[in-house]
Parts: sequence; structure tokens; C-alpha cells
Amino acid sequence: MEPAVHKSWRRVFHNLHRAFIIPKRNSSGWADHAAASPHSSHVKSTLLVSRLYQPSNLRDMGLDSQVAGEMSCKSQRLMQQAGLIHPSNPGCYYYLPTAVRSMEKLIRVIDQEMQGIGGQKLDMPSLCSADLWKASERWDLMGKELFRLKDRHGTDYCLGPTHEEAVTTLVAHQATLSYRQLPLLLYQITRKFRDEPKPKFGLLRGREFYMKDMYSFDVSEEAAHQTYESVCQAYTRLFARLGLRCVQVQADTGNIGGTLSHEFQLPADIGEDRLLVCGNCSFSANVETLSSDKTDCPRCSTGSLVESKGIEVGHTFYLGKKYSHVFEATFSSAQNKLTTAEMGCYGLGVTRILAAAIEVMSTEEEIRWPGLIAPYQVCVLPPKKGSKVDEASVLAEELVQTLGEALPCLRGEVVLDDRTQMSIGKRLKDACRLGYPYIVVVGQGALEETPKFEVICQQTGETMFLSKDGVLDLLGKVETL
Ligand code: ATP
Ligand code: MG
Repeated sequence: MEPAVHKSWRRVFHNLHRAFIIPKRNSSGWADHAAASPHSSHVKSTLLVSRLYQPSNLRDMGLDSQVAGEMSCKSQRLMQQAGLIHPSNPGCYYYLPTAVRSMEKLIRVIDQEMQGIGGQKLDMPSLCSADLWKASERWDLMGKELFRLKDRHGTDYCLGPTHEEAVTTLVAHQATLSYRQLPLLLYQITRKFRDEPKPKFGLLRGREFYMKDMYSFDVSEEAAHQTYESVCQAYTRLFARLGLRCVQVQADTGNIGGTLSHEFQLPADIGEDRLLVCGNCSFSANVETLSSDKTDCPRCSTGSLVESKGIEVGHTFYLGKKYSHVFEATFSSAQNKLTTAEMGCYGLGVTRILAAAIEVMSTEEEIRWPGLIAPYQVCVLPPKKGSKVDEASVLAEELVQTLGEALPCLRGEVVLDDRTQMSIGKRLKDACRLGYPYIVVVGQGALEETPKFEVICQQTGETMFLSKDGVLDLLGKVETL
């Protein structure tokens, strides 16, 4: 820490205070907190758009050369323009604060669903020993996709693209695992590294990305299939909660191995996977799993298969004993016999889901979020400085304060667009593009005898004129995590 911070702490605090806190203008409760102690006043601060680190470039709709150089798509363009991500090197991005807020919410929903079916969260090293990957024979099989490196002793490592080897070794080291502890579901949400031949489409195909990977250990094939089914159901619930239409398709098992596998696909034109969906029954499959000329449904045989494109957001595999056999992940059975565990593995592309949601929900110009994971729920727009209705700006600040205090669901979710040198129209356009689920415009109506606020609900496209109580009623129902 820099010494200057200690020396001039008082001055630094004073400046911080000025920067983050709107000066007292009324007698509402928050001013008392401000007086109590520097820290409590800091906590009570209003989120100001002018202070958010979101270097957006919304008015420049052209692509900068770096983006144009890569193959680009709508979500990548919108995310860069809105200051959600910033490119660093091919397939690698800075996730800026607003995107991180959204991602943390997405992670909370994933945690809820995984823990809802008994998943326990852990965190494994990204630096993986080559020995493990040689034991499973994937050191060679993975080819150039594996990021390989050597330590100072010349020992080989890779940066984990997935963690079957690591987790199975971990479980194998626990000598006392009993059948009573199974099914065991372990998962993590960490960065994964893959030297993709063509990183593209922003977060949709990166070389460094976040994945949720879960691994299951069961007593028998039957039990493993039940676990597999419950994970698929959890994935279906997850996408339903996000308001995303997702299809579960039969899939190829790739180099992960195993015999049963499904992909979770979001239908989208830029999707890189080709899907065949039966118009008659619920059959759907990745083209890779069927012979290329197939047009009749292999399940109901009456329906014909229609092709569409999809973005793979999740993948489930039944692995059997492939890894547990190699690494000797065993448990003691009810008959007290050492038995090899049956395994499954289940991936969700966390950063890919974020981008894919934006890809399928947004218009060309305006981001739309799944409400649950929008970075901020509400943006309040006070009038332009010096305009006829300037005095309503006090009401805007009061409203922000009241929302944060009266509605626990909106704590930390309301921002005030204090760039009052700009017209309401310009700021409204920005707010629409950034996709806040609710925008509250404080203008002429707020100065009427019973103040009225204009509330734009972006999800439904509705505009409402509501009293302060009406705004509280409406926003009190917002679901947040
Ligand atoms: P793809 O076919 O798209 O290359 P994969 O089948 O190799 O993906 P899995 O090994 O099944 O991917 O990984 C689990 C999940 O991780 C995928 O369903 C996807 O959502 C996500 N994912 C995989 N590769 C990437 C990547 N390069 N960038 C972002 N997310 C990815
Ligand atoms: Mg896959």
C-alpha cells in the first residue's frame, strides 16, 4: 500500500465522500447515517452512473479494428460497446465490473441449482500435472488444444481445460469412501483454458473462460443414470429461471469418453452446432450423432427432422468407470467390498451463457438480460441540469434512497444517472441500450401535487406513470439474488 494513503487519509476520505455521496438535501434517514461514522456513510452511498467503471462507447456503432479483425457477432459488439468486456489477446477478455456483477448473479443461480441436487462446491488447481493426463492418455489425445507448460524443474503441466483426472485422483485418495456417502457430487466454477483453433464471437468461444464442471460418483450404473437425470433436470430448471429457451439434444461423447451424452443448446443463427429436431415427437440430436442424410425421425419414424443452429451452453456425460478405473476411485460397498465408482461429468459454460443470453435476447442496438442476472435492476434518470423541471432532481435522489432502504430486493441494484449535463433523451437511450430491466424517469410529472414517475419496463416494453407508492409496489416484486 502506498504511504500517501496513510498520511493524507483524512483528505482522501473527504474526496471519496464528495465523489460518492450526494450532499444532504432533505431530512430523510440516510443523512443521519452519514453523520454517524465515515464508514456507514460510505456504505449508504448512492450508485452514480458517472462513477461506474463502464467505459462504454455506445454512440459509436462502428466496430473498432480489433473487433472487426476477429469474427464478430451481436453479443460481442454489444458487450464491448456497453463496457462489459474489453479484449486483451485472442480469445481472452477483461470482464469489467458490470459484467462481473452479472456473472456473480449467474453463479449464484448455478450454485442454487447444483446444491439443490446435492452438489458440493470445491475448487481445484488450474495447474494440472502432466502425469495425470498421461495416465488417462489424454495428454496426447488433446493435441494442440492443451496449454502446456514446464516448471523450473522441467516438469510438464497443463492449464486445466476440464478436470476429470484431477477430481478422480482426489476422490481416489480418500481411502474410506463408503457407499453411504454416494452419490457424491462435486463441482467447481473456475477458469478453463483451451487453445481453441479459432477463438471467436467474444465470450462464446474463448481460450480462457469460466465453466461450471460437476463430477458425480455413484454405487452402480443404475444409480449413476439417476444422478445423470437429476443433473439434466437441474439444467432445464436453470435455463427456465433465466427465461432462456433451451433444447436438450443427444450428443457425441467426444474425447471425454463414456456412452451417454446430451448437449443443452440455445437455438441461435450464429450457433456453431447443427441440430436436428423432430417436428412430431420430442426427439432432438446434434447432427454429429446421426448419419448426415437422415431426414426421418429415428424415434417416432413418422415425424421429419428439421435442422436448426444452436449454441452449446451445457454438456452432460455418463462416464461409467473410464476414469475411476484408471485412477482407482473406489468405495466400500454394503457388502464391505472395494468397488470402483460409476461416474458422470457435467459442464456449463458460464461466460458462454452470459454472452449467449445477450445474443438471443437483445436487439441489434439494445441489450436485454435475463432479469435475474441483469447487472443492475433499476436506473433512475433525474432531469437535465438547468431545465424547467430541475427541481425534480431532489425527488429522484429521494426515490433512489427510498428504493434501497424500503426494498431489500433492490439493495445495491439501483443506479442514479447523474450525468445531468446530458438531456433526459440521451441518457434514456443509453439506459435502454444497457438494458436495465426498469428505467424510472423523473420529470415534469414528479412536480405535480401527487408526484408521478414514468417507469419503463424493458422486458415487456410497457411504460407506466406511477406514484411513489406505485413504484415501490411494482419494484418490490422484482426477483433478485
Ligand atoms: P464446443 O463443442 O463448443 O467446443 P465442447 O463440447 O468442447 O464445446 P465441453 O468440453 O462439453 O465443450 O465443455 C462444457 C461447456 O463449456 C460447453 O458446453 C460450453 O458451454 C463451454 N465451453 C466449451 N468450450 C468453450 C470455449 N472455448 N469458450 C467458452 N465456453 C466454452
Ligand atoms: Mg461439449
